[in-house]
Amino acid sequence: MSFTLHGLAVSSGIAIGRAHLVSHATLEVAHYKVRDKSVPAEVERFAAAVATVRTELEALRGEASGPGSPSELAAFVGIHAMILDDPLISELPKDLIRERRCNAEWALVQQMELLVEQFDEIEDSYLRERKHDVVQVVERVLKALMGKPRKVAKRGKDEDLIIVAHDLSPADTIQFKTLKIGGFVTDLGGATSHTAIVARSLNIPAVVGLHHARPLVREDDLVIIDGTRGVLIVEPDARVLEEYRLRKTELELERSKLKRLITARSSTLDGEDIALYANIELPQDIEQVKDVCADGIGLFRTEFLFMNRDELPDENEQFEAYKSVAKAMAGKPVTIRTLDIGGDKNAGALSGSERQAPNPALGLRAIRYCLAEPQIFLTQLRAILRASHYGKIRLLIPMLAHVAEIDQTLAMIEQAKAQLRESRHKFDENMKVGGMIEIPAAALALGPFVKRLQFLSLGTNDLIQYTLAIDRTDEAVAHLYDPLHPAVLRLISQTIAAGARMDVPVAVCGEMAGDPALTRLLIGMGLRQFSMHPSRILEVKQQVVMADAEQLTLKVSRLLRLEEPERLREQVERLNG
Ligand code: PEP
Ligand code: MG
Repeated sequence: MSFTLHGLAVSSGIAIGRAHLVSHATLEVAHYKVRDKSVPAEVERFAAAVATVRTELEALRGEASGPGSPSELAAFVGIHAMILDDPLISELPKDLIRERRCNAEWALVQQMELLVEQFDEIEDSYLRERKHDVVQVVERVLKALMGKPRKVAKRGKDEDLIIVAHDLSPADTIQFKTLKIGGFVTDLGGATSHTAIVARSLNIPAVVGLHHARPLVREDDLVIIDGTRGVLIVEPDARVLEEYRLRKTELELERSKLKRLITARSSTLDGEDIALYANIELPQDIEQVKDVCADGIGLFRTEFLFMNRDELPDENEQFEAYKSVAKAMAGKPVTIRTLDIGGDKNAGALSGSERQAPNPALGLRAIRYCLAEPQIFLTQLRAILRASHYGKIRLLIPMLAHVAEIDQTLAMIEQAKAQLRESRHKFDENMKVGGMIEIPAAALALGPFVKRLQFLSLGTNDLIQYTLAIDRTDEAVAHLYDPLHPAVLRLISQTIAAGARMDVPVAVCGEMAGDPALTRLLIGMGLRQFSMHPSRILEVKQQVVMADAEQLTLKVSRLLRLEEPERLREQVERLNG
């Protein structure tokens, strides 16, 4: 049966493919005692269900290793086959049936709960997350027990692999960079959560905040993600499918047309140059950055180097990563942000990661964490400084609220430099140091920040979160997340204006910079440096080359006086014609 679910559009585009479920589903099964004489039959029923699932998985594996199938599908199926063959899943429930006379479903779920509890205690976050695979295998066996064996759907060669999950952490999502995933949907999540941000950088359609996708969608269902409208269509009828196939082709055509802008100069009609920088999470993202000829890296979110691993990256490993980016950018600026861990981003290997903060967004995040862990911070500072010898590296400090945080960081940079001089490592003595303006306190009391820092970067994702008191990861308040709130616009424009007055360059590196609907507004506020995912650069450049900066300055200064949100929104739309 076909049905549609609506959520938050976080990454545009269309994906058509088969669902692969990733879940923590709570499984509701019947609990009853079997009669003594029925025990052997119950054990047999369980063994038959396991055998059915084994056959299903073998068939899936055969199909997954065929030509044209993504190799990661074979890997998923392989893991599930291994879990099924583990005696903890395929044998121990039989003992529970024999000894406690539990029905087969109940025995299996009890065993699963025990296993999931043990997984929860594993320190390694990658292994801990494998509990979802255990749950999925158990679900398959349960379905077989209930007499509903799964049909193994054929994956067509044009079909993508679509991940359907209750929730995905940024650490889960970053792993998709090495997998060929067509798109993903989740029940939880906000539009500027880091999971959504990584989705955009992967350039794959994604919808979050769907609420009920995970329980309603079945493995191998044919699904369409419309990442622009925030819609998931499950088992579409032939007409809808055809329409979406057509739209997908059209979108691909539009994207390829934009390529004409790659070598075009990024300047407005009246000759104002607008720098278009890229945001990256990992060194491998550089390929995409070079494809669109970005003017540099405006934000390297280094925390992603620390995720999905047991050991922290040491100084040399970090140095190699930063150096590779600096060299690849061949003299163009590379802005490396120091570790912004905490909030919705976690790394199991970092000390303190086991602590559940009462309110992670307001807790020991970013620069606060680094100043509390000076050895981790110094290691990163030395690695960044060493890499500065190989290109034009700038260092960016996240989440500043207090001037003392800048002073402490500058003192630590001096300490790192002294250590490097002693060990005779080369570095750029004049490496620029900048700060992120993403807490309203910093934007409102900017004077001492501007005096101490050589450049500023507005993190609008957090600036909006903290100005409007909206958790950016919580879909329940996502409708209140409003970049055009007059208070937000005022903080942004005041920061840009203060930077211009004091001759300190200001960039925007939050998601607003990559939204072509806001390009003219930001140019009108005086912004001349934008940093966004490389996949957005050409769309934004298209807006830049059609804009008149002088006219926009006049219109935007009038618009910023408006207090009524609806009038303001109307005027912003007008800027775009
Ligand atoms: C921001 O807050 O706007 C930003 C760019 O940083 P992040 O999204 O990584 O918090
Ligand atoms: Mg931020």
